[in-house]
Amino acid sequence: MDPTEKQKEYFRKACGTARFVWNWALAECHYRYDLGANTDANEIKRYFNSFKYEAFPWLRNIHRDAHAQPFAALGKAWKAYFNGEVKGRPQFKKKGKCRDSFYVACDKFSSGGKTVLLPVIGQAKLREPLRFTGKIQSATVSREADRWFIAIAVEIPQGEVPPPKGEAVGIDLGLTTFAVLSNGEKVAAPKPLGKDLQKLRRLSRAHSRKRPSSHNRQKAALRLARCHRRIGNIRRDFLHKFTTRMSKNHAEIFVEDLNVKGMVQNRRLSRAIHDVGWSELRRQLEYKSHLYGSVLTVRDRFYASSKTCSKCGYVMEVLPLSVREWTCPACQNTHDRNVNAAINLKQNTVGYTGINAWGQEGSGLARTASETGLVEPGTFE
Ligand SMILES: [Zn+2]
Repeated sequence: MDPTEKQKEYFRKACGTARFVWNWALAECHYRYDLGANTDANEIKRYFNSFKYEAFPWLRNIHRDAHAQPFAALGKAWKAYFNGEVKGRPQFKKKGKCRDSFYVACDKFSSGGKTVLLPVIGQAKLREPLRFTGKIQSATVSREADRWFIAIAVEIPQGEVPPPKGEAVGIDLGLTTFAVLSNGEKVAAPKPLGKDLQKLRRLSRAHSRKRPSSHNRQKAALRLARCHRRIGNIRRDFLHKFTTRMSKNHAEIFVEDLNVKGMVQNRRLSRAIHDVGWSELRRQLEYKSHLYGSVLTVRDRFYASSKTCSKCGYVMEVLPLSVREWTCPACQNTHDRNVNAAINLKQNTVGYTGINAWGQEGSGLARTASETGLVEPGTFE
């Protein structure tokens, strides 16, 4: 968005209101919980509405969507927590530490060309027009460093899903190389955090040295926030381009089910993993495969075995991480460690129960077994 100074002022106040109401509702929720009373978000909202204008008269200056929506958001957050979808309980929002945003319901705004008509402030300029036509659901205005954004949810009719096209692909994810594909392609991540980490440290040090609530501290905070924004943008751009390319060009996509949560607990690895954004990759592949008609299969981690020969199914007993290339003693094929793992993901080489041609239990061939003639057809599931 390109808001005027006056509009920015309103946005800041609306964000502050949304934060205030969220915190109020959360505190009330805790209080009721301790008393064993009803903690339903709608119930708390009704209670708040019954006295809000008397207790907080300044709420009248802010459109009520900004002070109604936090209750719904809080209800959702608790539900996600109790269902085990997210790990953390809803947290209090601290000014300057949380994402600043507020909500506008669908019937309160409209958008045409490069403008949007919002309650209270009227028409605001957009940098680009809304790209989708359809039923507008809602909007969220948010701030990133010194820029303002509006996210508009639009319900669009489900288009015809194109028939799947392109070869199946297995994607092996790693820390040194972001992704290795079963066709041998290696995709390097931009690793923005690694490159910009020094700058981030410098800015963050400079920020903490400034006197609290001084003008210089505000300026330093803005520089720091801009650096964070740049890093986030680079990462998002890279991931989107990669997942779009995968879903558009491959009828089937195979990825391994990385236990990202478990791995992030390893502190030495955690920064690198957060940096490459594996969970975000999964999320994007899931919705884009629906969009472009490809089929995504998430395989057990067991499938991405680097130790299993993708040609004949032989399993190496030891294959240290330092070995990047190895030759199968059974079929004499030479494998790149990660490409081999990606091929295994794609072709179901491992993961069946049975004993393979070498008397090894629990791994071997499924599809290529009978083709190679190394094992009796029908030995394996
Ligand atoms: Zn082999």
